[in-house]
Parts: sequence; C-alpha cells; structure tokens
Amino acid sequence: MTSPQLSAAPSDPLDRDLAGVVGGKTAKALEKAFDMHSVRDLLWHFPRRYSNRGELTPLTGLPVGEHVTVMAQVIDVRERSMQKRHGKILEVRITDGQGSLSLTFFNQAWRASQLFAGKQGIFSGKVSEYRGNLQLQHPDYQLFDDRPGGIGLGGADDETAAGADMSAEKSRELQESAAKAWADRPIPIYPATATLPSWSIEKAVGVALEVLPEVEDPLPPEIRRSENVFELRAALEQIHRPERNVDWKQARDSMRFREAFELQLALLDRRRRAGLESSEPRPPRDGGLRDRFDAALPFALTGDQRAAGERIALELSEPHPMHRLLQGEVGSGKTIVALRAMLQVAEGGGQSALLAPTEVLASQHYRSIVDALGPQLASELNPVLVTGSRPASERQRALLSLASGNSRIAIGTHALLSEGVTFYDLGLVIIDEQHRFGVEQRETLRRKGAQPHVLAMTATPIPRTVALTAFGDLEVTTIRELPPGRLGIESFTVPQLEMPARFARVWTRTLEEVASGRQVYIVCPAIAPNQAEAGLSDADPEDGSGSEAVPKPPMVNVEETVAWLQSQPEFAGIRVAALTGAMKGDAKDAVMSAFVSGEVQVLVATTVIEVGVNVPNASTMIVLDADRFGISQLHQLRGRVGRGEHAGLCLLVTRAAEGTPARARVDAVAETTDGFVLAEVDLEQRREGNILGTEQSGGKSTLRLLRVAEHGDLIEHARGVAGELLDQDPELARAPGLRRTLERETRAGHLENLAKS
Ligand code: ADP
Ligand code: MG
Repeated sequence: MTSPQLSAAPSDPLDRDLAGVVGGKTAKALEKAFDMHSVRDLLWHFPRRYSNRGELTPLTGLPVGEHVTVMAQVIDVRERSMQKRHGKILEVRITDGQGSLSLTFFNQAWRASQLFAGKQGIFSGKVSEYRGNLQLQHPDYQLFDDRPGGIGLGGADDETAAGADMSAEKSRELQESAAKAWADRPIPIYPATATLPSWSIEKAVGVALEVLPEVEDPLPPEIRRSENVFELRAALEQIHRPERNVDWKQARDSMRFREAFELQLALLDRRRRAGLESSEPRPPRDGGLRDRFDAALPFALTGDQRAAGERIALELSEPHPMHRLLQGEVGSGKTIVALRAMLQVAEGGGQSALLAPTEVLASQHYRSIVDALGPQLASELNPVLVTGSRPASERQRALLSLASGNSRIAIGTHALLSEGVTFYDLGLVIIDEQHRFGVEQRETLRRKGAQPHVLAMTATPIPRTVALTAFGDLEVTTIRELPPGRLGIESFTVPQLEMPARFARVWTRTLEEVASGRQVYIVCPAIAPNQAEAGLSDADPEDGSGSEAVPKPPMVNVEETVAWLQSQPEFAGIRVAALTGAMKGDAKDAVMSAFVSGEVQVLVATTVIEVGVNVPNASTMIVLDADRFGISQLHQLRGRVGRGEHAGLCLLVTRAAEGTPARARVDAVAETTDGFVLAEVDLEQRREGNILGTEQSGGKSTLRLLRVAEHGDLIEHARGVAGELLDQDPELARAPGLRRTLERETRAGHLENLAKS
C-alpha cells in the first residue's frame, strides 16, 4: 500500500478506480453489468437480502425471464438422453421444502458428483419455462461445504477458488465455535446478473473492503450520535460482511438514514440556492390585463383558486424566481389559475410558456385560452401554438412573434424545447401535468429566459412523501375544492365475465346517453391487435400480476372496438370516431375538434385522452380492460367526465378475477373519487409488488435503500435534521464532507433522475 499523502486535497479512496483495486477483469465485468467505475459504486451496491444457511428461498412464483439467486436443496438427479440430438441432459431438481425447480445441464454428467440429493447451496440463473415447469439452464451455483472454511465448487464458469482447509492442529473447541460462527453468518445476496453471480460480487466487495484505507465520514459526529448511526466505515463493513443478522440490520438502517439525509439535504440546498437567484419581479397592476380578464370571467373563482392565485401573484412580484407546484384534483380549474399568472407577467411585457405533454392537450389549452381571453385580450397577447405537427410556415410565424416579443403566450408540446424556439423576455414557465416531464425538460425551457418563474401543475395527487422526495425542491400549493355545481361522478366496476348482463348494459347505457344529447368516451388499452399504446402501465413490473405464468388474454383495442360498434344495428346512425397516439397531429386535432363540437358522439380512444382533455358535454367514461391501467391513469381518465352541468358516469369494465391485485386496483378506483386517497392506495400496492421482479436483477437507480412507499417517516425525519443543519450552517462550512457529497451528487445528476416518473 502507498503511504497516504497528507496534502491539501486528499483524494477520497472511495473514488479510486475499480480496476486498480479488484483487478482489470473483474472491474470490466462490474462495469458492464452495473456501470460501476469507482470503489464507491461497488461498495454502495448493497445486498438485496441476506440468507441464512438452512433457510431456503421460496421457489414458487419466480418470474420467468428474470435472473434469480435462490438458496435451495437438491432433491434428486437424473440423466436422460435427448430425443433429437446426440447427447445427454443432467436434470437436477432442487427444492425449498415445498416448490421445486429444475436445473438442466447438457452433456455435463460429471456434475452429478457435486450435485446429489441433500446438498444445499445457492443457485443462480435465468428462469425459463419448459413444459409448464420452471427451470434454470446451466445455472451457476455454489454449494455449502459440510464444514467451515466457506464454500465449495464453482458453477458453470468456474472461477471461484475452493475454500482452504482449516489447520488440523486447531483445537477442537476453536473449531466448534468457528463452525457455529460460520453457520450463523448471514450470506449476502447481491443484485446479480447472468455473467456476474452474487458470490463474485461478494468476493470483489471483500477485496475492496480489505484494501480500503481510512475513509472520511461526511456525516457530522453530532448527527451520527443523535441519530444513532454507525460510522461510515463500520456501516459499509457490516452491511457487506455481517457476522450476525443484527449487524446488517443496523448497518442497513444507518445507510438508509444517510441516503434519506443526503437526499433531503440536496433538495433543501437546491431550494435555498434557487431562492437566492435573482429574477425580474412581475407585479400585477391595478386595472391591468389580469384585472380586465377577471372582470369578464363568467364565473367566480373558487376559494382555493383565489388563494393559490394570491400566493402566485405575490411570488411573481418578488425579485427571486418562484418554484411552485400546483396540485389539484382533476377538474379543479388549474388552467385559469395558470392563465391569470400569465396575464400578470404579460402586464410588464413579459412572456409565458405553457408546456403540455401531448398534442391533444396543447391544442386544447390553446383553444380554451384563446376563448377565455376573448377577442380583445387575445389580439393584444397573441397566443401561439407550437407543436411538432404545425405546418412549417405557421411555425415560422409563431417563432418570429415569440422572438420579437409580439406574442406573450406560447403553448406547446416538447416542440417548445427545441433550439429554434427563442423568447424576447420569458418571465414564466408553466409545466402542465408535471409528472410527465423530467426536471431536465423543465430546465431546458427555463434556460430560454433569464431566471423565469416556474409553475408546475399536476392533477395526479402526490402523496406527501413522494412530493418530498421527487419534488422536494418545489413549494406545493393544493387545490382541493371543485367549482360549484358539479354533479359528481358515479363509478362502477363491471366484471365482464362474472356479470355478462351488466356488461351488456354498458352498451345500452351508451345509447341512452347519446340519445339524451350527451357524449361518451370509450377507452381501450391497445390501438390495434397486438399494438399497445405507448405509456400504458400494463407492463408495470411492480404490478406483481406481470410475473404470473398464465398469459393474459389479448387486450381490447380501438380498431376492433370501432369496427364492432359500427357493425351493431343499434349503433347505426351514431357517429363513432377513433383517437389514438398513432395518428398524425392534424388528424388527431380534427377528431378532437369534432368531438368538442359534438359532431362525434362516441369517441373510442387510447390513453391519449388521459390528461387534461375537457369536453363538458361528455358524460360517460367507459374503460375496457380497465385492469390494464394503473390507478392514477384510471383516475385521470375518469376526470374527463362530469366536467359540465351533467352528472358523470364511469364504467370500469374488467376481466380480472376477484381477489387479484389487478381487480383490487379497479375496485379501489370505483370506490372513491378522492385522488389523494387513491394516490396512497397506489403507493401501497406498489410496495406489495416489489418483492421479486426487476429489482432482483439490480440496475442503477438513484435510490438504493429508500422506498418512498415504505420509509415516509424516515424521509420526513431526515428532512427535519437536514433543515436544521442548513439553518445553522447554510454553506456547510463545518461539514465539508457533506458539501463535497452534495457537489458530487449534483455532478452526477442524481436529483434530475429522481424526479422523473
Ligand atoms: P384541471 O384542473 O383539471 O386542469 P380545468 O382547468 O381544465 O381543470 O378546468 C375544468 C373546467 O372547469 C373548465 O371547463 C373550466 O372552465 C371550469 N372552471 C374552472 N374554474 C371554475 C370556476 N371557478 N367555476 C366554474 N367553472 C370553472
Ligand atoms: Mg388541466
């Protein structure tokens, strides 16, 4: 080892290159599998769980196609000849005491001398299915020796050295206690891949810990004491090489606190810095544009709208940029609040940009904003629509009037972010349906102005802990009140298979609504046979039902639903149209305007209509295969109806059986229209599903030990501790280690990744 250099800036041993520590070959493998480069990357790759010898992993419900690591015992071994090809298959069955799993090896009969009935070990490989049975082909494995000294015999790619024999001279007593310690020592099971089994990672981690010199602990000792947190070195040691279960539990709690604390510190620090930036104040003027708009408003603002508006008006008048998240139930009238903010900014000549996630939504915002402004204000403010599908000449004109400052309001999709879009004086950035965008998109738009104010909006209620984690650098304002006179929405689950008569009623109900002059949405999960709509949450790995071996029936799709409706005699003369994400922008626009004008009576669509679409005459929302959607998607879809003076009806049709998580989701949505309650249910369900699935294979995520669904209290607590520290020492002058940690995290863009959902 080289002697430590005590120069001005000692380099952090955790930043050392992996190759110099674990060897080039292993470093390459770690980089390829997990994108690890430094010792820190490796040491922060924590075991997913710990196994104890004799404790077997449940083998039922292993996800097909995933790489798994299981602890099990061999039941029997047999060899058979293959029918078509030359050669023999060795089939080894392993069990957890209940379920079983087959390991298959081609032409490797010699393995029978290692793998015989009664042997226990760790097996690792990709789960596949053969004739209804789960199997691992050519798995890696590591068997437990019958005596201490570790582990015997490697797997398919043989690299691990056999454990050294213990010296025979050691006293029997010593041997016994060593045996006991060995038997009690938990085995860390790491997120692994096919090429890098858990025990290879364990070995690399061991080497890295062995040669690791003293490391600086960024967490101040007072906090370590008050929070009862292990010193960093000890925490790393015990999370990777625990002697007893209690060790890793405490070490993991320590590392989890550190994670929550550093995250909240970073978010609070970012918020504090943002507050120090200076920007142009945009105060309202008496008798100005906003007052003129308010005077012409055909309805009174709700109390919540007024309160949110006042808050925003105040912040826009400050010489520091606003960073506010406006969350409000679907239909609560966030657009008006946003528009009034734009008017205030426009009074001083400033411009606003409203970013929407879809073309349908952007054009709808454009139309309704032009309408709401009325001809006089509209001609003064000259709002423009910027989307990818506008004709080139129109786009050119729009860009010119934004660059010259002639237009004070830009409404658009991602097209607004492109380089060609420049502003004369961008004072306010509004992000609608914020959860659809990442922080870097918000930043791109923000950089088009000199420190503009930012208003993010979302109709998806965010549980408090998620808000603290993903949006911890924003202040949150909530609109709970709906405009008066809404008749509410009734929601029902329609179990298609169990209650066919009720399912048939769906179509008669559609006809009744149309007959009374209302309009109906029918939403399908897919566009055409075998063509899922982008953004559908069906494939959600957290679902849990995704890992069932039973294939799901094909999804209901827009194309076939339209054809079927048109073939029904009862629907003759009823104007049905399709709307999907696969259509061109102007085709989508045409269908949407036809629906807005009432020309189209039944709109069969995918989730393109999920967010923000506003057609007050639409009274009924029918969702087919509703279980293919996530809770918040269903809630958003339902929010499309009951927006006018007509009562809304939402029918959630499902083929999911009672008692399945998929069905529970649909029922939850049918039971309440309170988005905040649903957000909590959603979070709860995600927690349940996360046991196997994608997590098993690891991968690089920003949060390692922290789960917002589970650790809400810890997150809040850590935020408090971080806030206190920053209050006392805003520049972290007395905690230089933490300062460096923050800088490193910022460089790595970890916060940016976090807020993407
Ligand atoms: P969301 O919050 O879901 O974006 P919108 O802004 O689209 O909701 O508003 C939904 C509908 O409610 C619009 O038609 C809007 O004109 C109407 N609205 C908004 N505020 C009020 C109010 N205070 N009184 C009556 N109607 C309102
Ligand atoms: Mg909206």
